[in-house]
Amino acid sequence: MEDCIFCKIVKGEIPCHKVYEDDDVLAFLDISPVNPGHTLVIPKRHYADLLELPEVEAQTLIARIKKIAPAVISGVESKAFNLNLNNGKIAGQEVGHFHWHIVPRFEGDGRELWHGRPYGEGEAEAILEKIKNLIK
Ligand code: AMP
Repeated sequence: MEDCIFCKIVKGEIPCHKVYEDDDVLAFLDISPVNPGHTLVIPKRHYADLLELPEVEAQTLIARIKKIAPAVISGVESKAFNLNLNNGKIAGQEVGHFHWHIVPRFEGDGRELWHGRPYGEGEAEAILEKIKNLIK
């Protein structure tokens, strides 16, 4: 896609710190890392988000992440990572070309992602009923 920054990276029109590349997938260091080694893994073809991504591409991406992530965390002497996907603007997606974030984690790094709260009485059941009925 013409105006897409990640498509431009795929085409070599914008430089990146390339971690991995094959015919279908490109991985490169995030320009503004949450932690050292923060890596983005993208399909070379343009899809806006997970819901646009064909299943076969999703499978390929997960297979590559399983290959790349161990190297990423070893390379920065981490033992764990978050695999993060911001799907849609409200969820924090800034670049409209599907991508996973591999974010290496370190003991006490303070990068807590979730602040959950328990459901109220009957709340989970009511929500569950609505969701289940919409799964096609
Ligand atoms: P998201 O908010 O999930 O869409 O994540 C987009 C990510 O892309 C952010 O973490 C940015 O720091 C990163 N980013 C944007 N432009 C570049 C670039 N030219 N090279 C590497 N990472 C980039």
